[in-house]
Amino acid sequence: MSSTRSQDPVRRSIPALRQHIRQEVLPELLELENNVEAGADVISSQPEHPLSNVALATYLKAWGFDYKTGKDQTYFDGHERDDVVRYRIKWAQQMMEWHKLQPSLKDNEKKMVLVTHDESIFYSNDCKVTRWCEKNEFMILPKGQGRSIMISSFMCPCHGTMRGTVNGVNLISRVIFFPGNSNGDGYWTNKDLTSNHKAFADDALVASRMTSGTSEVKSSTMYRFRDTTYVDRNGIIKPQSMYTMESMDLDAAMKEINRRRAKGQAFNANALVEKYRHAQEREKFKEILRLLRERGLLGRNEPLRRVCVRGTPHDPQAKPGCCAKYLLSQQPDFKAQKNMLETQTSKAGHLFTLYPKYHCECNWIERHWGTAKRHARMECDYSFDTLKSRIEEFLDHDEAAFGHKINRRYYYRAYRYIDAYSKGNDVLEADDIIKKFSKEYRSHRRAV
Ligand SMILES: [Zn+2]
Ligand SMILES: [Zn+2]
Repeated sequence: MSSTRSQDPVRRSIPALRQHIRQEVLPELLELENNVEAGADVISSQPEHPLSNVALATYLKAWGFDYKTGKDQTYFDGHERDDVVRYRIKWAQQMMEWHKLQPSLKDNEKKMVLVTHDESIFYSNDCKVTRWCEKNEFMILPKGQGRSIMISSFMCPCHGTMRGTVNGVNLISRVIFFPGNSNGDGYWTNKDLTSNHKAFADDALVASRMTSGTSEVKSSTMYRFRDTTYVDRNGIIKPQSMYTMESMDLDAAMKEINRRRAKGQAFNANALVEKYRHAQEREKFKEILRLLRERGLLGRNEPLRRVCVRGTPHDPQAKPGCCAKYLLSQQPDFKAQKNMLETQTSKAGHLFTLYPKYHCECNWIERHWGTAKRHARMECDYSFDTLKSRIEEFLDHDEAAFGHKINRRYYYRAYRYIDAYSKGNDVLEADDIIKKFSKEYRSHRRAV
């Protein structure tokens, strides 16, 4: 107990206590009885049970320690949303198909391997927030998350983080982004991460990039949209450009006509054309409702709001659509728009799929981040320089300790979830199945 008491709370843990008892307390006790050899036997024959987690936790409590947590957990329940569930089942079934595709290989055939990808952020103030504390010990945590480092990794279950030499250049399937400069511009946020995932080419058909009204194309315009085709009601493929050339400012002219009409004033069409004529033709974005009307998806004067209220989910059942942006985004040419990651991986001959939203348990790299972070938290001294100099060590900690088998363990665990989802189970059911499986698996191993 005295050794636990003198320890920094952040380093107190049940495994640490168990190790201390095994390596220091037990040999000492047994040595007192002058029976060192028997003592060594006792220790090596000690199975897990006499020092079980529950027993050690009970001791810690009896000694006056309490397990405190420094932050509340947040829960998400987006994973049972209709669209998420639909995607999850379809996706999981496809993943199981690919998983089964491991036939006996012919000469020039290759084994199919799941290469998974994700990004994660490590913060310099991210420390262990649960500690064994005595009554008079308090946790004082620094304010804010501190500076951050972003990691982007590709991993496979056979090689983990892939390393190799191509044309004399050493390559690693991991990129570490350090914050750029000292004025704080280099801070990454969650927003950077998600937008990264969704990186599309600059001319991609992405409805959310479209402006609500007609807008003139200028050199400062962020996105251009490539020309596309759509299938009309008669099954004919028709081209569509997202832009139109305007020789006069039609909007302004229409405004004046309406104003004059309202006041009962006469107007001369030719004079108006002259008044609003552009010196040069101007290229304008067509406007999202006009794009839909051209495609015959919306009647001539049929109203439709341009976009749903922020934060409310789109309604796939609404006719003609809950909003113009969603309706357009669901058109085949927009849906088929591949993001950059997909474009690049498909080009290199790989199959590509996106994990369902809210389901990090399906991506085994999350477990890799988890252990790397746990290690980083234990070693946290709230200094960015420490985090920066040791980040590789934290990331490699797992493989250094357990080799590649640890990756396969994560991989198979994630696949048990995918299997459960492919059979239509929801999150709670999947959790139960995995828990039951792990229990059986462990008891089988013990019996052998
Ligand atoms: Zn591999
Ligand atoms: Zn909508």
